[in-house]
Amino acid sequence: MNVLDVIDKKRIKEELSYSELSYIFNGYLNKEVLDYQMSSFLMAITINGLTDNEILDLTKIFVESGEVLEFPNDMVVDKHSTGGVGDKVTIILGPILAANGLLFPKMSGRGLGYTGGTADKLESIPGFKVDLSISEIYDQIKNIGVVLCTQNKNIVPLDKVIYDLRNSTCTVKSLPLIAVSIMSKKIACGAKTILIDIKCGDGALINTEKEAHELERLIKLISDHFNLNTIIEITNMDTPLGNNIGNALEIVEAIDILRGKKGYLTDLVISFAAKIIANTKNISFEDAEELAIGSINNGMAYLKFLDIVEYQGGDIDNIKLCDNIIPIKSPKTGIIKKIDALEIAKLAFYLGSGRLTKEQSIDYGVGIVLCKSVGDKINIDEPIMKLYTSKEVIINFDDIFEIV
Ligand code: URA
Repeated sequence: MNVLDVIDKKRIKEELSYSELSYIFNGYLNKEVLDYQMSSFLMAITINGLTDNEILDLTKIFVESGEVLEFPNDMVVDKHSTGGVGDKVTIILGPILAANGLLFPKMSGRGLGYTGGTADKLESIPGFKVDLSISEIYDQIKNIGVVLCTQNKNIVPLDKVIYDLRNSTCTVKSLPLIAVSIMSKKIACGAKTILIDIKCGDGALINTEKEAHELERLIKLISDHFNLNTIIEITNMDTPLGNNIGNALEIVEAIDILRGKKGYLTDLVISFAAKIIANTKNISFEDAEELAIGSINNGMAYLKFLDIVEYQGGDIDNIKLCDNIIPIKSPKTGIIKKIDALEIAKLAFYLGSGRLTKEQSIDYGVGIVLCKSVGDKINIDEPIMKLYTSKEVIINFDDIFEIV
């Protein structure tokens, strides 16, 4: 077999066999296929797509590139979001699920781009260790039912090398590659029930409803083939999720919600938790919702969060926020019609909360607190957001907010 023939076959839109896909992808993992050859192949996939057969074959190749976790019962659940601005759902959802007896071995990514990933947010808790070995993951699941860690390098190693290359070759937005990347990791992590949150909107990887529905179809295709129970949600990402954007600030908001703060984000997490609990325990959505809300109200979900922090070495009492806070006031009175997620993400990035290269460091304590939500009334000179930063900032208000 010849790598150029495989690339050329994709260029002319012919279907590749399992052995051709395995040859080129495993060849890349073993460093026999070179970066520029794989870049060209990934771009051919991004432009010409993959057939359903190719998607299923490639998922198997990804899963088999590393270890597969196995747990002794069907209570293992997982969740994945395609990435959103201010998305701290995992950090709230994990403790709620574990407080209700489910097992949640969650591996999350570090952020690349405008905002931090879940792993970065957790690392803003001083001492919190996200890099766990497989035996540490098994132990923690056995003891407290929940782990929040980074992608282990022995699980789907192909995804790691391919994702890094996609990031620097403009091939991240390929829907078949997204479906394979997400689902191979979920399969390898041993979950039986999975919730996939496809974020759709200006601030997301998926920008249109049409793309979101195609990704939904591909995820379902893989899920059915591998006998999984997958719940797919398509949720809006035109507006940031919650009030706080920035790593430590998002941990603070996650804690507030686990301690009872209400709002859109709380409702979203409760509805995700209820769907997962209902599916796993075979009970009605309403009963599952009561369990999820109950675990917040009786403090068990927050205690689970404290267990996670303790097990993973974090010091919850010493989370540091930037102590210079700049209030941004509204120039007019009216109703807030829009808070642009992408503009907020760019601002948070400028303040130092994200990274463009893997080597760049993050300033955990900086970020934005939105004082208002879409639909709220605001008066002239009333603070609409607060910036946690020591930097000089010039705000183009109308790019971020629409007030009518
Ligand atoms: N999340 C993933 O894990 N992989 C992708 O390709 C995109 C989002």
